[in-house]
Amino acid sequence: MPGLSRRHFLQTVAGLGAATLSGCQGLPRLASSKAHVVVVGGGFGGATAAKTMRLLDPTIQVTLIEPKARYITCPGSNWLFAGLTDLDKLTVDYQALQARYGVKLLADSVADLDAVKRQVRLTGGQTIGYDRLIMSPGIDFKWDAIAGYDKAAAQQFPHAWQAGPQTLLLAKQLQSMRDGGVLIMTVPADPYRCPPGPYERASMMAYWLKQHNPRAKIIILDAKRSFSKQALFEAGWTKHYGYGSSNSLIEWHSLADNPLLELDKKNQQLISEFGDRFQGDVLNIIPPQTAASIALQSGLADAGGWCPVQPLSGQSLFDEYIHIIGDAAHYAPIPKSAFAANSEAKACALAVINLLNQKPLAEPHWLNTCYSLITPQHGVSVAGVYRLDAAQTIVAVKGAGGVSIASGAETELLEADYTRVVYQQLVANSFA
Ligand SMILES: Cc1cc2nc3c(=O)[nH]c(=O)nc-3n(C[C@H](O)[C@H](O)[C@H](O)COP(=O)(O)OP(=O)(O)OC[C@H]3O[C@@H](n4cnc5c(N)ncnc54)[C@H](O)[C@@H]3O)c2cc1C
Repeated sequence: MPGLSRRHFLQTVAGLGAATLSGCQGLPRLASSKAHVVVVGGGFGGATAAKTMRLLDPTIQVTLIEPKARYITCPGSNWLFAGLTDLDKLTVDYQALQARYGVKLLADSVADLDAVKRQVRLTGGQTIGYDRLIMSPGIDFKWDAIAGYDKAAAQQFPHAWQAGPQTLLLAKQLQSMRDGGVLIMTVPADPYRCPPGPYERASMMAYWLKQHNPRAKIIILDAKRSFSKQALFEAGWTKHYGYGSSNSLIEWHSLADNPLLELDKKNQQLISEFGDRFQGDVLNIIPPQTAASIALQSGLADAGGWCPVQPLSGQSLFDEYIHIIGDAAHYAPIPKSAFAANSEAKACALAVINLLNQKPLAEPHWLNTCYSLITPQHGVSVAGVYRLDAAQTIVAVKGAGGVSIASGAETELLEADYTRVVYQQLVANSFA
């Protein structure tokens, strides 16, 4: 690589067919005791995959490659806008993965892959061989989607869609907004990381504004016609933030037929296809997304910018020795969430172990749940259980999951408590 060679692509597609039809017979495999699995990316997907591999089969050598010594979780980062948390509380490290589970850590990033030699080359120059590669590199942004909005512009108009300095910058802008100011938040079309995330963010910002700047307004400009947990969010916004009234703290507008095309930086305006101009004191632009650049440049993504996989094993459709999980991969209808990345990682780790041991693949099930706070005392959630149907397509299990029942303050408070507990459990389950 960069990009898969045509010869290799044909080899892997042929191999994939064999895997699909005959359970991978005929392909040389290493016994797991000699195997080396490299995991790229230490987010929820990668950390869980590395930990699970070592838990299930300690004879396998697992190397986790992640450039950052500490990881700041996006889950929980919206709470910072309401003053309920800070970055320290959202930060984890990889010591437990190393000390408890024997994962080898490499603080570097993958510069490119050689799929034929089954090697990754690191930015630092080192080359590492693998028997199986698990990639969970997360997302990147489509910087060309809104003309004028690029990496440099994000320093002025933060997306805050990768938790860290961007989150702090946006919180500072919110808190120093003029009395009665307008904050505009743009939301991309599906698929993107964390479908309910923008609406939880608007809720947490409104919570802060209600106490400190009650004449201000948050205007959500959404590329979609509807959104995750919409009825629950709108009921909560009506109850707490005057939604639907003339002095509502939150307004939501669908721009599905009139998309935003351009940013006029000087005038702090977003311009739509029909020429409408939306001016804000603060612009929180959440751009459309793709799989992280390492996946794109390695030829692992399709034209939509996400990595197609065989759901049974997480194997890339372009290379059977590479497994892809988390936000970068296409597991629809499972949403792109940390909870889902954790679940995909576990199923993938088991599949990798079975493949290394030439055992049949187990039928996976995946879980997702996304909790959101509307106020510190009002939480809402959505949950789903997924499996493969006869055509090996991922489907939601009918009758499993659902959204919170809107049944008053007691439920809202319980859901808010669960929101915090699920966060703690998910972080511990992935990193500790
Ligand atoms: C505001 C917000 C709120 C959210 N709230 C929730 C929530 O409440 N619940 C929930 O379930 N989900 C939530 N999410 C979604 C969640 O953050 C993601 O779905 C999750 O982080 C995906 O995990 P991942 O492992 O795929 O990617 P990431 O967590 O992004 O991890 C990817 C890692 O790969 C590394 N990497 C990238 N390229 C390379 C390379 N070339 N070499 C080595 N390493 C590399 C990166 O440094 C990064 O650490 C939220 C997201 C946002 C933005």
